[in-house]
Amino acid sequence: MPKSTPEETSLPPDVLAKYEPVIGLEVHVQLLTRTKIFCGCSTRFGDPPNTNVCPVCLGLPGTLPVLNKRAVEMAMRASLALNCTVHDHSRFARKNYFYPDLPKGYQISQYELPLATAGHLEVEVAGPPAGAGAKKRIGITRLHLEEDAAKNLHEGFSQSARKAYIDYNRCGTPLAEIVSEPDMRTPEEAYAYLTALRQILLYTGVSDVNMEEGSLRCDANVSVRLRGAKEFGTKVEVKNLNSFRFLQKALEFEIERHIAVLESGGRLSQETRLWNQAEGRTVSMRSKEKAHDYRYFPEPDLLPVHISEAWRSEVRRTLPELPEAKRARFVAAYAITPYDAEVLTSSQALAGYFESVVKAGAPGKAAANWMQTELLRGLKDSGKEIDASPIAPAALAELVKLVESGQITGAIGKKVFATMFESGRTAADIVAAEGLAAQVSDAAIEQAAREVIAKNPDNVAKFKSGNEGVFKFFVGQVMKATRGQANPQSVNDILRKLLAL
Ligand code: ADP
Ligand code: ZN
Ligand code: MG
Repeated sequence: MPKSTPEETSLPPDVLAKYEPVIGLEVHVQLLTRTKIFCGCSTRFGDPPNTNVCPVCLGLPGTLPVLNKRAVEMAMRASLALNCTVHDHSRFARKNYFYPDLPKGYQISQYELPLATAGHLEVEVAGPPAGAGAKKRIGITRLHLEEDAAKNLHEGFSQSARKAYIDYNRCGTPLAEIVSEPDMRTPEEAYAYLTALRQILLYTGVSDVNMEEGSLRCDANVSVRLRGAKEFGTKVEVKNLNSFRFLQKALEFEIERHIAVLESGGRLSQETRLWNQAEGRTVSMRSKEKAHDYRYFPEPDLLPVHISEAWRSEVRRTLPELPEAKRARFVAAYAITPYDAEVLTSSQALAGYFESVVKAGAPGKAAANWMQTELLRGLKDSGKEIDASPIAPAALAELVKLVESGQITGAIGKKVFATMFESGRTAADIVAAEGLAAQVSDAAIEQAAREVIAKNPDNVAKFKSGNEGVFKFFVGQVMKATRGQANPQSVNDILRKLLAL
């Protein structure tokens, strides 16, 4: 039996509740430039190892870096979208450390003069303390540019059979590092922050933010303090969080571990830990004492970066409508709920699809409902993205209109949708071919009912004197007049209404 350590103790809720977690995230994103940040090599993902390399990104002596303007521009886009101040002057610095994935022996990064500082973003936070649907502003300390390192690949598990390979294709890929303020108080808020950040980076087109391919990487800093305390507790940095779910799990684990240590009278040490998904726990990687001294100094091979007001406003001018603004506009313009808006703006493609459906004549709320149920389910089940939807926006609008106008029932509409999704045929085509417009319109039923009533005054009199049995006669006559294609329930409702006059 393994010895029980504080890490494995499950603490009672009242003990957990005494403490407040404090979380700050450091996020690295690869910028979507075609070429690397200081040379002309391609940044394409998945090319054969060590094919996109040159003397500059291999760090050979005598080579000089040349800054990629596109990388600066993309970092500016991200900065402005995150409400940061983009500084007139920033500067690159050398961050010195020795590791095989860094052939120069230093990383070119930014240090005391970063590209941008003092931004923020709004996140949706559910649950306490804010309450459902509430928003919270999370500060962004800084956004700076740097180069990515190469990728280490390990093979074999035993010490003797273990081999390491290095792929320098990644070395020199432009990165933006985005550091948050320690403003988050729950793992859910950290998750919401990363979600909102990811969405902004996607909307602005600066990164494909693909966690599996490593174009978005996140380190979490976490500490706890007694509720009401002013000072922050000792923080621990958790690395190796390669999914949103791992981030949340690692934070939950780490918060409990901190509280257990403090409750047992212990002290936390400032350290870096790794999330081990297989074991569902964090493990210590290095303590602060062993932390690198990076010996930063200004990069002598690059000029300081100067950004003119003209360039800044030009970049600002080309920013797209951002997720939050889009959500607010959707709620106001299309009478959908904030939840609908959140789902529909999860990507620009989905939002664009929705607006096309509405432009093609479908009512907003109905379009939102059909998209969130049938369309998103269909896409998910078939593993398709919205851009590859077999149903075009106008085609979905046609179906929505058929249902909304009562020409087909909602239930039939769902069947028609399934056929449309499979075959690419139009709703009208399917309805006609399969005789699904069985429902005669309410107006046509009413017309037939009025005629039947006018022709049978004797039976009307009988019904009015209390002969309920004669009602069946009227139903039968109307069904006959509509060739059996009317919805019986509608026939009933309309007859009752007219006979009560
Ligand atoms: P370091 O010098 O160790 O890199 P920084 O002050 O640069 O620390 O902060 C790094 C990250 O850690 C930031 O995202 C910041 O918000 C977060 N952070 C700082 N102090 C704490 C703390 N006490 N608890 C949790 N997160 C923290
Ligand atoms: Zn190169
Ligand atoms: Mg730091």
